[in-house]
Amino acid sequence: MALPKSMRLLAAVTLCIFFYMVLQIYKAPAAIERPSSGKIKEWTRDPQLDPSGEPPEPLRRVEGDNYEPNNPNSARINATLLALVRNEELEDMLQSMRDLERTWNHKFNYPWTFFNDKEFTEEFKKRTRAVTKAEIRYEIVPKEHWEIPSWINMDLFQESVAVLTEQDVQYMSKISYHQMCRWNSGLFFKHPALANTRYYWRVEPKVHFFCDVDYDVFRWMQDHNKTYGFNINIYDSPQSVTTLWPETRKFIADHAHYLSPNNAIEWLQDKEQRPGHNAKANGYSTCHFWSNFEIGDMEFWRSRAYQEYFDHLDRAGGFFYERWGDAPVHSIALGLFADKSKIHWFRDIGYQHIPFFNCPNNPKCSGCVTGRFTDGEAWLNQEDCRPLWFKYASKD
Ligand code: GDP
Ligand code: MN
Repeated sequence: MALPKSMRLLAAVTLCIFFYMVLQIYKAPAAIERPSSGKIKEWTRDPQLDPSGEPPEPLRRVEGDNYEPNNPNSARINATLLALVRNEELEDMLQSMRDLERTWNHKFNYPWTFFNDKEFTEEFKKRTRAVTKAEIRYEIVPKEHWEIPSWINMDLFQESVAVLTEQDVQYMSKISYHQMCRWNSGLFFKHPALANTRYYWRVEPKVHFFCDVDYDVFRWMQDHNKTYGFNINIYDSPQSVTTLWPETRKFIADHAHYLSPNNAIEWLQDKEQRPGHNAKANGYSTCHFWSNFEIGDMEFWRSRAYQEYFDHLDRAGGFFYERWGDAPVHSIALGLFADKSKIHWFRDIGYQHIPFFNCPNNPKCSGCVTGRFTDGEAWLNQEDCRPLWFKYASKD
């Protein structure tokens, strides 16, 4: 028996309302979608704006004469401040030395080791000796560590220079820059002058240090079992490292056993924050520890894993055919082969290498603006990739 007309109408309307509501429920997520990738910020406020102090105890301090320069039983460990530098950069090197001596090394008196591909001048030696009580060594880089390797085809190099200069790769045509990056990547720690040295602090000419540091930084690395300390984390120009990640993947395919069980491969492969960089660098985020500042344990670079990785990269030729920097090479190796909990952010060491800063909120600092990342153009703030490191690793 058919329903009355009014009942049929009511049923039809109810059905329509039901379908309409189901439709709304399924449509709902679209309205609360996250902003498109690339615009997601991992933080809205730089953590350096928050007050911070020293890293955790134990911290070794000056007591009596325990760090005096000539004390044969000093508390210093096997470590050195280290700089590759040219004679022409003397004034800029003195600037860096004065800052680091004032804020830290006049207390701890760690030796300086200067490296150069040429003989240091007497003036360089005299004037650098005048700004520290600590011992200084002046070393020449062995020819076989500096020369362009025999397997590099110079015609191909020149062609690559033309192509990548066109793509705005900085320093592409400067052969010595390629040699410097290669040496810093895989050879510095093989220098005979460092044979008995385990920890190093890399210092470049023309950098600034802003904060008093009152503990033995090298001893801290050792006591806390740290492999590497960084200060600034930035994106690289992807055109300079196009095949670095693909070559790395080839290496990993044959050497998976070298990967650390607690690695930071997600940090290396992030494509959320700057998808364009990841795409151009063929899977590498390009985020790296800025290696003009490094405090490290050379055992890591001297490990079999790293040596084999460096040899693989060296044979592939990208130190010349592209412009692989020591910063991405070191960072990728650390991200893969090191335990990420052994990598430390030295937030307390106020620092500047043009155009970036690390400036903590700490009464021990002066001469920099708290929390400021750059004093260059505003777009440079985008180059800060610390949010990625903090997301995939930690702020420790
Ligand atoms: P940037 O920081 O990437 O612009 O590169 P720099 O010009 O500062 O070079 C990095 C480091 O390597 C600095 O400590 C330089 O003094 C050093 N360096 C670069 N090229 C040479 C070179 O040909 N000879 C020597 N002795 N040192 C170099
Ligand atoms: Mn520099």
